Amino acid sequence: MIARARKNQDTVRFPAPSQIMSEREFMEYDVITVGAGPAGLAFAIRLKQLKPDIRVCVIEKASVVGAQILSGAVIEPEPLNELLPEWGKNPPPICVPVSKDEFYWLGKEKATKLPPPPQMHNHGNFIVSLGALCAWLAPQAEALGVEIYPGFAAAGLLFDDNGAVAGVSIGDMGVAKDGSHHAGYTQGIDIKAPLTVLAEGCRGHLSKQLIAKYELDKDSDPQTYGIGIKELWQLAPGKGEPGKVVHTLGWPLDNAIYGGSFIYHLDKDRLAIGFVTGLDYPDPMFSPFEAFQQLKHHPLVKPLLEGGSILSAGARAIVEGGYQSLPKVEMPGALLIGDAAGTLNVPKIKGTHQAMRGGMLAAEHIAATNQSAGWDAKLRGSKVMRELKKVRNIRPGFNKGLLPGLLNAGWETITAGLSPWTLKNHADWSSLHKLQGYESPKRDYVARDLPPRDRLASVYYAATAHDEDQPVHLHVSDTNICITRCAEEYDNPCTRFCPAGVYEIVQDAVNGKRLQINAANCVHCKTCDIKDPYQIIDWVTPEGGSGPNYQNL
Ligand SMILES: Cc1cc2nc3c(=O)[nH]c(=O)nc-3n(C[C@H](O)[C@H](O)[C@H](O)COP(=O)(O)OP(=O)(O)OC[C@H]3O[C@@H](n4cnc5c(N)ncnc54)[C@H](O)[C@@H]3O)c2cc1C
Ligand code: SF4
Repeated sequence: MIARARKNQDTVRFPAPSQIMSEREFMEYDVITVGAGPAGLAFAIRLKQLKPDIRVCVIEKASVVGAQILSGAVIEPEPLNELLPEWGKNPPPICVPVSKDEFYWLGKEKATKLPPPPQMHNHGNFIVSLGALCAWLAPQAEALGVEIYPGFAAAGLLFDDNGAVAGVSIGDMGVAKDGSHHAGYTQGIDIKAPLTVLAEGCRGHLSKQLIAKYELDKDSDPQTYGIGIKELWQLAPGKGEPGKVVHTLGWPLDNAIYGGSFIYHLDKDRLAIGFVTGLDYPDPMFSPFEAFQQLKHHPLVKPLLEGGSILSAGARAIVEGGYQSLPKVEMPGALLIGDAAGTLNVPKIKGTHQAMRGGMLAAEHIAATNQSAGWDAKLRGSKVMRELKKVRNIRPGFNKGLLPGLLNAGWETITAGLSPWTLKNHADWSSLHKLQGYESPKRDYVARDLPPRDRLASVYYAATAHDEDQPVHLHVSDTNICITRCAEEYDNPCTRFCPAGVYEIVQDAVNGKRLQINAANCVHCKTCDIKDPYQIIDWVTPEGGSGPNYQNL
């Protein structure tokens, strides 16, 4: 990192690292950005465009920018046009104009073609790899003087004497599971700034702490989420139709579960296919991973994939609460942008344009005022919020099932969101039914023969890498609950909702049943942190550079 490092004396670190062997070194900036996604990069670029002399850094936990970004992604280009008007002359490596939209309602063997809902009209949009787009944006930010540090996880928060956010602490490298130090141990440094911008994406780990500390969500509904599981396929030659966008709903989900698939044809016979499941699903026996694999075997989809191979795969939570779940986005010394705030438009399944626009607006706010105060009002008065307001009732309308949800969506679309009411959102962890007295819907799944065979095989395609001998980054505050209450009430749903098979209940010869956490497999999707019905799982950052290494997701 850069040379301006000094010894730390006066800030309070939270949470306090367990092993502070010596004073930590620190660096200072005018603004710190946590996360090199579209929000963080658009923010940093715009800030530098407006104030070339400002010192701004971007901290990114992935080994390289984009390696832990997973998205669809069909993007609306408007904010990119504003940020980098010449971008079309040097486009990102994957960037295919959308040529047609198709929308299907699936039964187990049937596919009924329907007119795409207005939110899913993609004329003028582009199919990209969002990871590749961010990797393409990063050097453009650096050319303006933004300092970007991939491979560094912002693990903790710094506060000044008045309780305002004063920066972040970077996690130590080379700590063993038992807390001792490996040969290559390097103490993390603190990065201080009067302003910290949280652009960590959906269910950000530091953002979660700040929302709780400053009670930023006290006047909003609980945030809600989905889980998106995605694979990038190399199809057999000639099967791709570059620019074709397909969305489905229905099978393999029952009517109580919100979700559907996306199938995007890139160039060179590459296909992005994924499945999003609302995390408010009620059936504790349901597995989002299995639902996705089933979808791939539907007669509409399977012939496309046969003869092809998987290039990359992974999973990521998607923020769905929208307008009524948006927390206050400012606090002393810091602000939230992008999916960390929750600006994604669910009916469109698009958050990139919102994240970029929000990032650019935040940069304009900071350039004009040099403070976090006023950011909440600025965002709420912006186009970002107007877009969310219009569609605010569509997602919660599905809480009563698929058909009522579709009827409500039709009404909300025709009236452009002018209904005088706002439907409520509820926390996803509270939606699971206890097994006693509950019968899981019969799923009637088909036998599978397309890869991957199972979740472990899928993790292989995520190229996820964590040093096995590092502290487990999935903190379960009471593992007794897992083998007592949770086993009885829900049959350990973590063993099914985790798309990477991280959680297992094993029988130990000495201690009997216990929870085993295969943390090295984790793909950082954050689903466990969200869906665990007792809210005892806390995802924290592992060593910087650990985690998935997605290729073009
Ligand atoms: C399955 C799926 C499909 C989607 N499809 C589309 C689509 O078709 N079109 C569309 O527009 N949007 C789509 N989205 C939404 C879109 O991906 C997001 O809205 C967008 O990525 C949000 O950008 P962001 O910068 O806020 O967060 P992210 O893109 O999530 O970026 C956050 C970055 O911060 C890093 N980070 C997080 N915590 C830390 C930390 N503590 N320290 C250091 N680094 C950290 C992460 O590694 C990541 O690089 C989809 C999302 C999913 C999950
Ligand atoms: S352990 Fe949690 S964050 Fe990691 S892959 Fe599983 S559900 Fe996702």
